[in-house]
Amino acid sequence: MRVSEQFRDFEDYIAAVRDFTQNVLRLNEHRLTLEDGVPEDLTEALREIGLFGISIPEEYGGLECSMEEQVRLTFEFCQASCVFRSRFSTTIGLTSQAILDFGTVAQKEKYLPKMALGECTGSFALTEPEAGSDAASLSTHAKRDGNLWVINGEKRYITNAPQADVFLTMARTNPDDQSANGISAFLIDANTPGVSIGEPPRMLGNEGSHVCYVWFENVRVPSDALVGGQEGSGLKAALRGINHARLHVAATCVGQSIRLIEEMTAYAARRKQFGQAIGDFGQIQALLADSQSEMAAARALCLDCARAFDSDGPIPHVDIASAKLFASEAVSRIADRAVQIMGGMGYMEDMSAIPRLFRDVRLFRIFEGASQLQQANIARAMLRSV
Ligand SMILES: Cc1cc2nc3c(=O)[nH]c(=O)nc-3n(C[C@H](O)[C@H](O)[C@H](O)COP(=O)(O)OP(=O)(O)OC[C@H]3O[C@@H](n4cnc5c(N)ncnc54)[C@H](O)[C@@H]3O)c2cc1C
Repeated sequence: MRVSEQFRDFEDYIAAVRDFTQNVLRLNEHRLTLEDGVPEDLTEALREIGLFGISIPEEYGGLECSMEEQVRLTFEFCQASCVFRSRFSTTIGLTSQAILDFGTVAQKEKYLPKMALGECTGSFALTEPEAGSDAASLSTHAKRDGNLWVINGEKRYITNAPQADVFLTMARTNPDDQSANGISAFLIDANTPGVSIGEPPRMLGNEGSHVCYVWFENVRVPSDALVGGQEGSGLKAALRGINHARLHVAATCVGQSIRLIEEMTAYAARRKQFGQAIGDFGQIQALLADSQSEMAAARALCLDCARAFDSDGPIPHVDIASAKLFASEAVSRIADRAVQIMGGMGYMEDMSAIPRLFRDVRLFRIFEGASQLQQANIARAMLRSV
């Protein structure tokens, strides 16, 4: 982060985000369910503290945090419900980064300043009913009609679809090329005729986050909606953003782990059975220590990847896959241990945050590339190196 009018330097900023997380976001978590979404006053507070702009350069009004700074911030704000994070994650990660790296000057000027202020929510539309992990097999297609593109297709599981102002949408522009090279990325404004959004389905967790079907029916967009003005680079744009987003997810798992460990440790210290604190029992100490060690390892891996990301070298996509795999599997184990340490209290919905956190963190092993896909990426890279 270079300059900011509100904050002296990054340490000053992260202290403000820490204070905001602990004293505003955590105290309002119950409202995510009650009000079925991130309430507008809290969305405004997220905007005011700059969280929509952490990854966007200063020239577009963002805070231009380095990846290491973004990861450290994520460790902080993800100590509150990860649903707050999901409100701005699609903007700071998948959409703005693709525009930054592949967009034309006009596309950057149109979207990035508003995204940095949180006035334009970007949503990332890749997944389809028949194209999940195998994203390159997508069937949404775009056909030229004079100066326009006509887009048809069905996307599903699209985070922030009801809030979106623009969908970064992957569509096949070359029907003769069924590989990733036949796919292009389009910036489709949400109010374009032919765009419609389904009702958010109920989910296992992440209540208050809206993840929907999006349909494109004869959606006509001008040629300057094509990201970078170039056909065939759609999946490349998506994957650049996905590396960024995967590292953010790994850091999210660390933030959620810190919160779980805080809750389980406080409970282990105060809950007495057999005349002593349960934290005095060796088996409970083992659960605490394993959780702390796994969190610390995930945190170190995230910081390591972030520093490599910030360097001039290539994006460390294999290490990012390891960070995402390890951190997401670890936080699931930590959430399970938190339930165990809290006994019946960990199973009661309204007595602690643990049941909600337990359900929320299960997602991280599925999206932004499921664990099996990360394992395959890592193992293939290992085998290639022989
Ligand atoms: C809450 C939520 C939010 C999401 N947000 C977005 C979003 O904003 N935008 C977007 O585009 N998408 C989004 N997604 C979609 C997400 O990225 C996909 O769910 C994910 O890529 C997995 O695809 P799938 O669900 O179709 O599962 P599938 O691909 O059908 O996988 C099912 C199982 O098979 C395994 N599997 C698949 N292929 C292989 C293989 N080659 N080897 C071994 N195992 C394999 C998987 O690991 C998984 O365990 C979201 C999903 C969820 C649940």
